[in-house]
Order: sequence, then C-alpha cells, then structure tokens
Amino acid sequence: MKYVSTRGSAPALDFAGVTLAGLASDGGLYVPEEWPQFTAGEIAGMRGLPYADLAARIMQPFVGDSLDPHRLLELTRQAYGRFAHAAVTPLTQLDEQQWLLELFHGPTLAFKDVALQLLGLLFEEFLGRESGNLTIVGATSGDTGSAAIDAVAGLDNVEIFMLHPKGRVSDVQRRQMTTVRAPNIHNIAIDGSFDDAQAMVKRIFADDDVTAKHRIGAVNSINWARLMAQVVYYFAASLQLGGPGRKLAFSVPTGNFGDVFAGHVAARMGLPIEQLIVATNVNDILHRALSAGDYSTGTVTPTSAPSMDIQVSSNFERLLYDVGGRDGSAMADQMRAFDAARKMQLTNAQREGAAALFTSLRADEDDMARAMRWACEDCAEIVDPHTAIGLHAARAADLPADIPVVTLATAHPAKFPDAVERATGTRPSLPARVGDLFSREEAFTELPGTYDAVRDHILENAS
Ligand SMILES: *Cc1c(COP(=O)(O)O)cnc(C)c1O
Repeated sequence: MKYVSTRGSAPALDFAGVTLAGLASDGGLYVPEEWPQFTAGEIAGMRGLPYADLAARIMQPFVGDSLDPHRLLELTRQAYGRFAHAAVTPLTQLDEQQWLLELFHGPTLAFKDVALQLLGLLFEEFLGRESGNLTIVGATSGDTGSAAIDAVAGLDNVEIFMLHPKGRVSDVQRRQMTTVRAPNIHNIAIDGSFDDAQAMVKRIFADDDVTAKHRIGAVNSINWARLMAQVVYYFAASLQLGGPGRKLAFSVPTGNFGDVFAGHVAARMGLPIEQLIVATNVNDILHRALSAGDYSTGTVTPTSAPSMDIQVSSNFERLLYDVGGRDGSAMADQMRAFDAARKMQLTNAQREGAAALFTSLRADEDDMARAMRWACEDCAEIVDPHTAIGLHAARAADLPADIPVVTLATAHPAKFPDAVERATGTRPSLPARVGDLFSREEAFTELPGTYDAVRDHILENAS
C-alpha cells in the first residue's frame, strides 16, 4: 500500500514511512492511494472475531508489506489487551433506535487510547528496525496528550513534547498528562488555544533548524495510523447490529474530524453506512462548512466539551481531497488561500461529495445538558459532555426508525465530573485503573503562546 499527500508534492511512502513521518513534507496529510475493499461476504465472515483479530483483519490491507500478518496480530493483541473491557469497544442500548459505542475503556478513559496504544507499539517496531529515534511534538485539546503519554512513557527511542492550552483542559485531563514521570515526557502549557498549539506543531515539521537535528513524529490525528485504528470500531459496531446486511448511522462528537473521517473510510471500504452525523459544539466551523459550504474560522469559545473546542479541523482536508477529485495541486492552492484568509468556500464537488454521506448538527450547552439528563433519567446511563453532544445530534437527526443510530461515546464521564454533576446531579467517580491521580505530583513547563518560545524550548530540551 502506497500513501500520497493531499497536497500532491511530498514523496509517496509505505505504511511504516507514513507512521513515522506524521505530516507530509509539503504540509499535506497522507492518505492511501486507493481504498481497500471488502465484499459483504468478507465482512460477514468477520462476525464473532475477538476485537484484536478483527482489528488485524481490517488493518492488514493498509499495513501492506510493512508488517507480516502474524506480527500485526501480536501488536493488536498487546494493544487491546490493556483495555478494561473484554469487548474493547462494547455497545450499550439506550432505546429502540439509539446506541452508544463505548470507546473509553482504555488506560486514559477516552477514545484516543484505541489508536494510541497501537501507535506506541508501531513506533517501537519501526524505529527498532533502523535503530532510530523519534521526537514527537503534539498538541492536545485534552485527551490526545494523556493517551499518547501513556502509550510512549518510558520508551527508549521516543521522546515526546506535548502542548496543551493552559487552563482549558479539565483537571483530570491535565493530571493524566502531568503526573506521568518518565524522562522522555515533556509537558508544556501554552498561553493560547488548541488551534494555536496545533499550528505550532505543523510549523515544527517545516522548521529546518529543528528537523536538521531531530526526526519529528506526530501523535495527532494528522498521523494516518491513528485513523486506520479507528476504522475498526465502525466495523465492530456494524457486525453487532446486523451489518453488513443492515445499514447503520453513526453520530460522532467532532473536533479535529479524525474520528468521523475514520467512518468515511469504513464506508469507502464497503461497510454499509446510512449516514455520518458530524456533531459539533458552538465551535461549529464544520457544521457551517457541511451545511453551507462556509469554512471560515472565528475565535474559539471554551465549552464543557473542551476536546471539541477547535476551529481548524486538520482532517477535513483529507475529506475535501477525497471527495473533491483527489487533485493534490488544487488542494495545495485551496489550503494556501485558506491559510492566508482564514476562510474558504468548498467547491461544488466537495459539497456534493460530502453531502452523500455526511450531515451535521450543532449543540449548545443547553442541548448538551438536556441530552445528558435524558440518558441519565430515561436510560440509566451517565454520559460525558462530548458524548452528550453526539447524542443530541443522533436524536435530532430524525432518521427512519429502522436505522440504528450509534453515538460514539468518546470519553468516560469521570473525566468531566463538574459538567456531568451540573447537568445530572450525579458526580461520576474515576475507575480504579487511573489510581491515585489526585495525589501525584504534577510537572509541566509554562510558555507564552509564541512559536519561537516553543521551538527554543524543544531545541534546548530534546536529547
Ligand atoms: C478528541 C476528542 C473528540 C474529537 O475527536 P476528533 O477526532 O478530533 O474529531 C471528541 N470527544 C473527545 C472526548 C475527544 O477526546
């Protein structure tokens, strides 16, 4: 399998190459040259497989020659063996139509673990072959940071610098990053938003002063391997609910457009999907883009769902490229114009291509709280604020009664106890597996929100 950049001019790479490269050298994102296909018969044949085995089957065509099938299976078994639930991503029924896909049974209580537990092992595997080192620079709106840190803490050949927006992540989210004490972990709080942090990360990849000395890697969903791992649970949910003979809809609480793009990939591979519902909070650039073609940034409003407080969604570029004719040089022009003006109009091909599968809905804080209360009072389920936004959109989308609607439950409610308690009166408690989070000592560096401060810090501290 070869991967090409959405901006057309970076070299094509194999799976091991894109896993270590992260961002493409032309500033674009890597996508497979073509989508692997499964027939309905092949999909039906995966029913009943343990999650790790299903994962290896779905991923093998993407991995190609970079890993032999037996080794891939060893890695998926190791990664998913760390989950607290035997089904890894179990489904919970809410009513006749609504379901939750629980993606928070990993070590750091959010869906990011599903991909990052595997990505940590892939880094080790591929770096080991060439005895190389990787300096990861990442940005987090809250959950990627802890999941990536858990996945790479203590590795010899990987070091990680993780930027989070100061004061804009929950206490649990911050402590899950800052209390991990390993020499290869560097936490940085910046004055600014997630978008500021993500823009700095992208600049690092293009900074010759840094890349001349260090091989820079990515754990954000700009890294293809993350999306690949997330495709698996769309298949898992479908197989439990009658797929491939029956179509499902998915509602996905969305920020950086990674999770929902994985649903698009599943559909491209042959999984019957009726609709993908992009659920946003009041930071609704994606809702405006999908409903009106208007992709224009505003300022970020902090909400109770901080992992979705994002204006510039990196992975949206992958969708625009894929549905807009896969023209790298046109995409490069479009993104250059966007970077200058901070806004763009989608082309007709992009709008029509997206409308075939996607719809979008925006939920404000009241919608979110009402969805949380509905789940609590009518279905005896406590959901986190991000999941509640997905659930609001799932119910408001008004799909035919015979289409099951699966909301991706992206975080454990105990990551956001204050917002959950405000809406439901119930304060969720942390599962035992996170241990003594609130008594451990924190360590992080505070930096101003300027690129130079962050780059200098990385150059001074990277080994
Ligand atoms: C990261 C995250 C999201 C958004 O996912 P994207 O892939 O960035 O769209 C939603 N909910 C939670 C809890 C998250 O951690």
